Amino acid sequence: MTRPAPSPAAAATRPIVDARGLWKRFGPLTVLKGVDLSVAERELVFIIGPSGSGKSTLLRCLNRLEEPDDGSIHVDGIELLSRATDINAARRRIGMVFQSFNLYPHMTARQNVMLALRKVLKQERAQAEEAAARALDRVGLAERMDHYPAQLSGGQQQRVAIARAIALEPRVMLFDEPTSALDPELVGGVLAVMRELRQDGMTMVVVSHEMAFAKAAADRVVFMADGEKLEEGPPAQIFGDPRHERTRAFIRQID
Ligand code: ADP
Ligand code: MG
Repeated sequence: MTRPAPSPAAAATRPIVDARGLWKRFGPLTVLKGVDLSVAERELVFIIGPSGSGKSTLLRCLNRLEEPDDGSIHVDGIELLSRATDINAARRRIGMVFQSFNLYPHMTARQNVMLALRKVLKQERAQAEEAAARALDRVGLAERMDHYPAQLSGGQQQRVAIARAIALEPRVMLFDEPTSALDPELVGGVLAVMRELRQDGMTMVVVSHEMAFAKAAADRVVFMADGEKLEEGPPAQIFGDPRHERTRAFIRQID
């Protein structure tokens, strides 16, 4: 499926992610209560909030891993929830990195990345080999391409997972607690890769507890509680002068 290139003016003003009024229920539990989220091109939006507030569900809706009960989601101008949308084509524009890396243990780093390129983008072997090498180089793993996951640290495995996502050249990257499963000494390497991606102009939505990273790298911080977006603003405002009592309490407790 091809699409016309957007005009530069439209690309500058149109958000890459535009979610409006998202509702999600699991049985009797209402997990998202009319959440709006708009992410501009090249913006890094950081989502914080107590456990169970709906952060993961929101990210999963943005990739349609969860089906919202109501609302609309445009990604790069495509309505994800429309029946007419080819969801697999739309998902190619959305990279996702989870807490668990989900690499195939019997495949090397490069083979893991290649598999995505061959399956999703239907690339020929030689082309996929080259693109996988480039992506692994971007995450600082050029020397480890032929290692198996078990021969890599958790941080390196997560960087392979990031390489696998960026190799598909997504329009936006969603990160759900990408460093939560890592030993503390391995967190920095993953955050450094994320910072570099941002410098390269990647649009990113990050759910994480790494508040120092949010302060240093986020353009905007969103605070969620009980399925609602209670507050959002620049990191200096959210961390330094939160308006909402729930935000203040959350920030006091993580400090
Ligand atoms: P967070 O990522 O902010 O911790 P989640 O989005 O994972 O929050 O979860 C929000 C709420 O939805 C929690 O109460 C969780 O137990 C519930 N939940 C999430 N996924 C499901 C599911 N598939 N089925 C039932 N309940 C779920
Ligand atoms: Mg979560």
